[in-house]
Amino acid sequence: MSWITAITCIGRAAVKLLSQQVIDRNGTARPCSAQTYEHRSIAVPFGGCTEPSNVKAGGYACPIRFQCAGCGFYRPDPSYLPAIEDHANSLRADRERARAMDAADFVVDNLTSEITAYEEIAEKMQDRLAALPDDERAELEDAAVMLRRLRAGGDRVPLPVTVINRQEGNPR
Ligand code: SF4
Repeated sequence: MSWITAITCIGRAAVKLLSQQVIDRNGTARPCSAQTYEHRSIAVPFGGCTEPSNVKAGGYACPIRFQCAGCGFYRPDPSYLPAIEDHANSLRADRERARAMDAADFVVDNLTSEITAYEEIAEKMQDRLAALPDDERAELEDAAVMLRRLRAGGDRVPLPVTVINRQEGNPR
């Protein structure tokens, strides 16, 4: 069962609040209906996806390898802030590994661009939150915690990874 179908009344109120705080990759406000929000939210771990073929495929058909911060179909909101920050940290670790491997400049540059894009998105969200009255911000933060709990308890679409069989004699 998807976390969407498990949403309680409290979860629906949280969705309603967060759906009004959706932005795009440039930080432009992109509020949507609660129903649209739920439909998108299954797609990726660090924000909603509006790319039709990927949404239809339940998040398994991203055409640009989940580089969401650089994608015109990306629709994050403040409930994804911790996931965005974790992902930026993970990309920083990848960049260090790439440098240690003497990877080509384009590999390191691509990671740097992606890290910067996520940093900018997180900063814009933080700015929007800071501009809210204290009571509204507190309500929104509670709603974000609620949605993160619901997502954590439901089915999420993992990013595609390459599985390496390290058993000796099995090159696959
Ligand atoms: S990059 Fe992210 S937002 Fe864009 S299509 Fe892929 S999963 Fe969706």
